[in-house]
Amino acid sequence: MKEPAMPTKPIMITRTPRGTQPTRQTHAAPATPAWQHALAHAIRDPESLALELDLDPVCLPGLHAGHDLFRVRIPRSYLARMRKGDPRDPLLLQVLPQLRETEEHPGFVADPVGDHDALAAPGLVHKYHGRVLLLTTGACAVHCRYCFRREFPYAEHNASREDWAPALAYIKADPSIREVILSGGDPLSLTDHRLADLLRRLEAIPHLERLRIHTRLPVVLPERVDDQLLGWLGTGRLHHVLVLHANHPQEFADPAAPALARLRERGITLLNQAVLLAGINDDPDTLCELQEAGFRHGILPYYLHLLDRTRGTAHFEVAEHRAIELHRALQARLPGYLVPRLVREIPGQPGKTPRWNEA
Ligand code: SF4
Repeated sequence: MKEPAMPTKPIMITRTPRGTQPTRQTHAAPATPAWQHALAHAIRDPESLALELDLDPVCLPGLHAGHDLFRVRIPRSYLARMRKGDPRDPLLLQVLPQLRETEEHPGFVADPVGDHDALAAPGLVHKYHGRVLLLTTGACAVHCRYCFRREFPYAEHNASREDWAPALAYIKADPSIREVILSGGDPLSLTDHRLADLLRRLEAIPHLERLRIHTRLPVVLPERVDDQLLGWLGTGRLHHVLVLHANHPQEFADPAAPALARLRERGITLLNQAVLLAGINDDPDTLCELQEAGFRHGILPYYLHLLDRTRGTAHFEVAEHRAIELHRALQARLPGYLVPRLVREIPGQPGKTPRWNEA
């Protein structure tokens, strides 16, 4: 997976008194944003993960087996919200490589949602009326083991590879498109410079009204919510919607909480989508608290996804009848505006397919 570009060192021409020659000087590089330092120091190998969390070394072969398929990546600020010595910690389980990822299960495939077949231009997925999804980068701050794009060939299908041009031309040619969704990978793993450039070009397309950003960074790498990000987010002609991704209420704890507060103060529409995951959030208390905790941070629930059946993720699946029971429990215990829509993504359908009416 790609890493975000680091700033390069600029060459500056200094002004000199009249009659003397200007001299070329190399100035100090602009400071690398703290979030890029944090990303560079993320946990990236099984031994460090086991050591940092006091995990029993007996788990190391399993960790390596999963890591060989999809590499470990965990920011330290996310790790800090996990309990040491507890291999069942709900945050750890989302990012812990396991031997079970090597198992083959019928129906669990590389591209369960049909993204590949819906590519309209390099890095541009057009599945649903009125909106398109731009795959901006393959990079993420964290590698979630259940990710439906864990095998997606980003190197081939990345809109930024061709300077966005074919994707932007496609959007410009279709006036029915009102909304662009930045996805990835995680779009906020791009630099602010790249994102501001993309935003400027999207704003020049007159029929666009909304920019939606699907991101897990404010939750797993809260350092990303800095002055530079807040300098462009929520500005300009397009209405910005940030769709976060948190699956457990503990993910909203410090140090994520102050970052979420800054986003809320910026006045950006904040939504959350979660994935229903066995052993992590498949009980009514955790799911209710996820919605309540999110709302305390100004985040409204959006989707509760049934697991996309991606190869290597079968151990996360919650049976659909159980998911419907859980959803009914949410409806019984929460006001309607705090109940996310329980959905499954089915390739070829005109939108996410709701599941809550099917007992
Ligand atoms: S942040 Fe999103 S895209 Fe990245 S690994 Fe996690 S689920 Fe997948």
